[in-house]
Amino acid sequence: MQAFEPVIGLEIHAQLLTATKIFCGCSTTFGAPPNTHVCPVCLGFPGALPVLNRRAVDFAIRAALALDCRVHRTSIFARKNYFYPDLPKGYQISQYEQPLATAGRIELPVDGSMCRVGIVRVHLEEDAGKSLHEGFADSDRKTYVDFNRSGVPLIEIVTEPDLRSAASAADFFSRLRAMLVGIGVNDGNMEEGSLRCDANVSVRPAGTMRLGVKTEVKNLNSFRHLQRALDYEIERQINLLREGGRVRQETRLWAAGALRTHAMRRKEEAHDYRYFPEPDLPPLQVDAAWIEEVRRSLPELPEARRRRFVAQYGLPEYDATLLTQSIALADYYEATATASGNPKSASNWIMGELLRKVKELGVEIDQVRIAPDALARLIQLVDAGTITGPTAKGVFEKMYETGRSADDIVGAEGLGRIGDEAELTRIIRETLERHPGPAAQYRSGKAATFGFLVGQVMRATGGKGDPKLVNELLRRILSET
Ligand code: ADP
Ligand code: ZN
Ligand code: MG
Repeated sequence: MQAFEPVIGLEIHAQLLTATKIFCGCSTTFGAPPNTHVCPVCLGFPGALPVLNRRAVDFAIRAALALDCRVHRTSIFARKNYFYPDLPKGYQISQYEQPLATAGRIELPVDGSMCRVGIVRVHLEEDAGKSLHEGFADSDRKTYVDFNRSGVPLIEIVTEPDLRSAASAADFFSRLRAMLVGIGVNDGNMEEGSLRCDANVSVRPAGTMRLGVKTEVKNLNSFRHLQRALDYEIERQINLLREGGRVRQETRLWAAGALRTHAMRRKEEAHDYRYFPEPDLPPLQVDAAWIEEVRRSLPELPEARRRRFVAQYGLPEYDATLLTQSIALADYYEATATASGNPKSASNWIMGELLRKVKELGVEIDQVRIAPDALARLIQLVDAGTITGPTAKGVFEKMYETGRSADDIVGAEGLGRIGDEAELTRIIRETLERHPGPAAQYRSGKAATFGFLVGQVMRATGGKGDPKLVNELLRRILSET
């Protein structure tokens, strides 16, 4: 059967973390009573003049530099004209032909190798208001509108069609989120709509170059929705082509409940937005000094940090990729690696026990109850041979529950490793007496029972037996007859 390759490009809207809106002084705080953060400018009253918020430009430059874009010395605001009830001016102020920044990229690991996702452009624009279709007694007959969001500053980030699977698109979006949050321009809150994604997708016969006809799935506000909507859409398009049909260029909506996309509007119905330069705003001028100032204030970016983790701590790519997902996690890792003196063990503990706990309890990494220093101390106790690996897992649990230190728990509960030959020999002999069958099987050549016996001995020591010594002694005792 003909194989197809998906081609995906994303358009992401990110709200910038300014205290006030992009063209007026109204507050951007989420959750205020409807229509309390409004003024003549963001309500679109005739004659009210927009004034550009310098902080919004700062943040947009910050994001553009982090995405490795070229920031243009001059960019131009434009009116994008359309009618919608949540758009009181009848147009949105955006940037069109001359955006703030172009030609960037993000590198991301996909299936074990690095994939380059091009960034076409980053531009500034204002958000629209919000139509409220639900939640009122007369919602079956009326739609209400809240203009608090009208005029909130956004950047739109447009990628090249460089992604090749739903999973890597979701991964890209998640890394982009971590980056935007990490550089302090966005709060990453997808439920409140601070970060939204439109996904463009087409398929083409595997091995061919020409792009297929794409559809666009609007307003995906979680990684899971993005991935599921793309999976659905890819399969739908492939099935269509296999049946001899054609994909129609259209905008579709994801119905999360029904797990499917459905058509919203066809390309023929697409708007002609009649863009023209915004007459009430001068061209935006960004000089080299401004760009440099922003560049100097940027923290180390996730990709650079990932590479440094591999070089500096000798971590496998996999570990480094996972640990640089967020700044908080990477910070936690570095503190633990440094304090413990064992970077790989720190990585194992964090990727294993710690992230499992975080997931289980639904907390954030900066809320975990074991500080990096405390975890580092636990690692040192294992490395010094004071406790065994299995004991350490139990100690970790107790540390999490009680907030006590590893030394405390090990001391108070007598969890020190049993490294005494005589004592271990006694325990091994007892264990063999309890399991004469497997012992006899081992002696008659069935080597596989050895692992079982080691397990039984370790259990008899409460996990405290020095594993190396247990192995040695057990082998020696089994070979005596
Ligand atoms: P439009 O004119 O429909 O807005 P653009 O060329 O501006 O399309 O691209 C919008 C987004 O769609 C970009 O993220 C781009 O990478 C992506 N895209 C463009 N063409 C395709 C295609 N054939 N398949 C998948 N994605 C595409
Ligand atoms: Zn306002
Ligand atoms: Mg476009």
